[in-house]
Amino acid sequence: MPKRVVIVGGGITGLACAHRLLALDPLVDVTVLEADARVGGVIRTSPFAGHAAVDEAADAFLLRVPAARNLAEEVGLGGSLTSPAVAHASVWRGRLHPLPESLLLGVPTRLGPLVRSRLISTRGKLRAGLEPFLPRTATDLDCLGAFMRKRLGNEVQEILIDPLVGSIYATDTDSFSLRGMPQLQELASEGRSLMISAQKRPRPAPGGAENPVFAAPAGGMQALTDAVHASVLRAGAKVMVNSRVSGLDHDGKDLVVRVSDEEHRCDHVVLASPARRTGEWLAHAAPNAARLLAAWEHASVVMVTLAVPRHAMPRSATGSGYLVPKTVQRFVTAVSFASQKWAHLDDGTNMVLRVSLGRDGMPLHHHSNDELLSFVLADLKWHLGVDFDSHVGNDHVRLTRWVESFPQYRPRHFERVDRVEAHLATELPNVHLAGASYRGIGIPACIEQANETARRIIERVSVR
Ligand SMILES: Cc1cc2nc3c(=O)[nH]c(=O)nc-3n(C[C@H](O)[C@H](O)[C@H](O)COP(=O)(O)OP(=O)(O)OC[C@H]3O[C@@H](n4cnc5c(N)ncnc54)[C@H](O)[C@@H]3O)c2cc1C
Repeated sequence: MPKRVVIVGGGITGLACAHRLLALDPLVDVTVLEADARVGGVIRTSPFAGHAAVDEAADAFLLRVPAARNLAEEVGLGGSLTSPAVAHASVWRGRLHPLPESLLLGVPTRLGPLVRSRLISTRGKLRAGLEPFLPRTATDLDCLGAFMRKRLGNEVQEILIDPLVGSIYATDTDSFSLRGMPQLQELASEGRSLMISAQKRPRPAPGGAENPVFAAPAGGMQALTDAVHASVLRAGAKVMVNSRVSGLDHDGKDLVVRVSDEEHRCDHVVLASPARRTGEWLAHAAPNAARLLAAWEHASVVMVTLAVPRHAMPRSATGSGYLVPKTVQRFVTAVSFASQKWAHLDDGTNMVLRVSLGRDGMPLHHHSNDELLSFVLADLKWHLGVDFDSHVGNDHVRLTRWVESFPQYRPRHFERVDRVEAHLATELPNVHLAGASYRGIGIPACIEQANETARRIIERVSVR
């Protein structure tokens, strides 16, 4: 009898896991249960202001970790991948300042470009310049902000590192795991000084069209989840939407997954749904694992997309967009100049802006749509000196609320994940965790977890 696997959650992790399971063993019986009316999870693309496809959340994946590109190629999207047309971005601090070159997630790897930049004060530069002479800083606290403050000083932490990392994960790096950013954790563990260690490495490619760092399907990120969805259906998986899992148990023979009054019996379950929610319905069968999961924290964000006349944009608005450090944040945390970033969103007339609001510690969902839009317009006026109020008609505004969409990797996050997995191994064997809540938030990291989970399941299946 073929082995039966139920996957809870039809985001990129759940879909990629179904894809990998069926690629490794076409005979596995795979069912994906998705609570929502659509698959894709927090990946969503829709038409906007005359463009066929503008992303409402993620708009690209990193190429450094190859899992997303490989998956895109496997599902036939290799030829449609495109990369940002521009690589540089700015930070708003009274005005737009281009980010200095040679940063690794905000960490200056060379002093020259930092010294020449007017973004950081002389005092901040002098403090950062001490870094190569400081004794080693312990990493065992696993707190990104605390570590960087000690190494590079408060200003570089607050104006460079926190905006760059914080805007990726809607987080506050003062309570974020250092291991949550593997590139920085590696650099921190390599030697005494971050800058000396970075200088010993090959220089990173400058980005841009020749050496792209990011890619995305030209049809937007949902083209990827749609293509993986279509591929798993062709391979024989069942994908059931409007199927919210409300319980999971073991009856001595099978794992039993409950959706309203339906039961799905299987040999393995992959939990690819967000941790906190999962903790709520796992309590009966795995109380210790569920207690830890239910305590997970997730941040909420809002993405406001606007189309504004290109001629109204100030000359300083170059590159892919800008970040706003917490020290000067009101509501907006980052603005993407999407029509400059992506050649296919450049219609020559309008500029598509993707404006991010909210983060860990800045919940905004109690505000109405009108209030949120007024915050965006006020912040844009403050940052860019332009009043877009009269330019923004109804068909040129889109507001997407992403409630509890960013799991927060607090210090010692990975130890917590290990503990949940250890509890599951005893309380509910053959139940696996994968996805943004656990071992990496970015799309490539989610796909890697999906692949790894599928391999583990197939190995266990085949040794039986
Ligand atoms: C605004 C935003 C911008 C982002 N930008 C980028 C970017 O540019 N690049 C990048 O790499 N990453 C980005 N990310 C992160 C990345 O998109 C996500 O971490 C990733 O897509 C999460 O995928 P997932 O499948 O693990 O989780 P999700 O997409 O959250 O999917 C989980 C699924 O589980 C379902 N579910 C929940 N409870 C149940 C239940 N009880 N029963 C059944 N189903 C259930 C949910 O409905 C959901 O569909 C961004 C995220 C957001 C929110």
